[in-house]
Amino acid sequence: MENNTIKSLIESQKDFFATNKTKDIKFRKEQLSKFKTALKKNEKKLFEAIYKDFRKSEFETYETELALLYGEINLALKKINNWARRKKVRTNLANFPAKSYIFPEPYGTTLVIGAWNYPYLLSMNPVISAIAAGNTVILKPSEISANSSAVMAEIINTTFDEKLFHVVEGGVETNKFLLEQNWDYIFFTGSPYVGKIVYQAAAKNMTPVTLELGGKSPTIVFADSDLKMAAKRIVWGKFLNGGQTCIAPDYLLIEEKIADTFLDLIKSQIEQIYGSDFENNEAFTSIISKNHFERLKYFIDNSNVYYGGDTKSEINLIEPTILYPVSLEEKVMQEEIFGPILPVLTFKNIKEAIEIVRKFDKPLALYLFTKNSSIKKQILNELSFGGGAINDTILHLSNHKLPFGGVGNSGLGSYHGYEGFKTFSHFKSILDKPTWFEPFIKYPPYSENKRKLVKFFME
Ligand code: NAD
Repeated sequence: MENNTIKSLIESQKDFFATNKTKDIKFRKEQLSKFKTALKKNEKKLFEAIYKDFRKSEFETYETELALLYGEINLALKKINNWARRKKVRTNLANFPAKSYIFPEPYGTTLVIGAWNYPYLLSMNPVISAIAAGNTVILKPSEISANSSAVMAEIINTTFDEKLFHVVEGGVETNKFLLEQNWDYIFFTGSPYVGKIVYQAAAKNMTPVTLELGGKSPTIVFADSDLKMAAKRIVWGKFLNGGQTCIAPDYLLIEEKIADTFLDLIKSQIEQIYGSDFENNEAFTSIISKNHFERLKYFIDNSNVYYGGDTKSEINLIEPTILYPVSLEEKVMQEEIFGPILPVLTFKNIKEAIEIVRKFDKPLALYLFTKNSSIKKQILNELSFGGGAINDTILHLSNHKLPFGGVGNSGLGSYHGYEGFKTFSHFKSILDKPTWFEPFIKYPPYSENKRKLVKFFME
């Protein structure tokens, strides 16, 4: 899309927002229902496009993208009346006899920038919250998942009035131009590197942002845990979507005394879940591009392969791979992996495990496998991370009651469910006062008696 066309699109969204139409709850519900119908009607197209991008199966696309989107729309439709109503709060004595309210109001015209790894979920989930909260939206999906981006543009741009919601396709240059415009809110999902660019661009106009970023998410396994179940849940979480999940276990820390036993269990779980013919297993997703494939292959070629390591370059496929033993100095431990490669390190005691995790930026997720409540308490108390699970991986994301987001280098702000509605709303505080009473003590001339009364009413 031409830059001038983008500019007039933004202007038309601003004009539309100014009509107050998006503030009508009935209107928001109609748009959300329309969204769901359009996605349902076009499921086949959505499955085909994402398969072309990285051979992602229908089952996984439904399970990890569409089902979550439908759940988010259904929840918003059910709760929006409650979420959007003004909330009365108590008034303090000093303001007697006023009433106090909090009004959620939409920000206005918002920009949502998506990542490629769950192209539908990460692009459209924030949009559901933005529309539920009464905003207009321009969505820029990732150009790297080009087919998914194109099908979203086709479905959305033929379903919605562009003044409310429109997809603008494009790469880095388009994104840069979009970021130069004056938005009321920017919601970005992607790498910490681009997150900083977005944050800087937003600062120019004092635009509030949510940054959903990434990092190296640790998985810590203690000897007392249910080892077989731990191996099963780690294998599922790590290799889902070909390992291209922002909250996938990035590296594994195993208590030293169970390392061999646990690695055996991991190996047999990989074989049970994916079989030996990973190439023809529809549950195994390819790497998104040749560049990403080569980046990952480097890790395999330059580390100790304990299991797997096979690749099929024609279809950018990498076998579930375990690297062990691995040292903290290796390149695979210096950056987010974002692929089906699991480096394994060991620790002697909880202190050492905590020290290793602290060597990295605050991660997006952390997974802990133990039955011991004092270990749980210590890890949760001493380590900072976006969110996570105890004795499971990934699934904290699927509970809409849990705000989803990072901290520090892994992000800023959160969403999902009511949290998403709050993210796209400004909460306007109002004190509503009658005029029949006015305390004389706030006015000059000041006196010691007035000071005492102020102290009584305000402290
Ligand atoms: P990315 O940062 O490369 O790209 C994200 C978006 O930014 C794309 O739409 C792209 O067009 C745009 N972009 C890229 N370079 C740009 C530049 N120089 N200037 C302006 N815009 C630019 O991220 P990605 O490769 O699509 O996704 C992978 C990263 O995203 C990983 O770090 C992963 O952990 C993270 N991620 C986080 C979440 C989350 O929910 N927190 C979810 C998925 C992915």
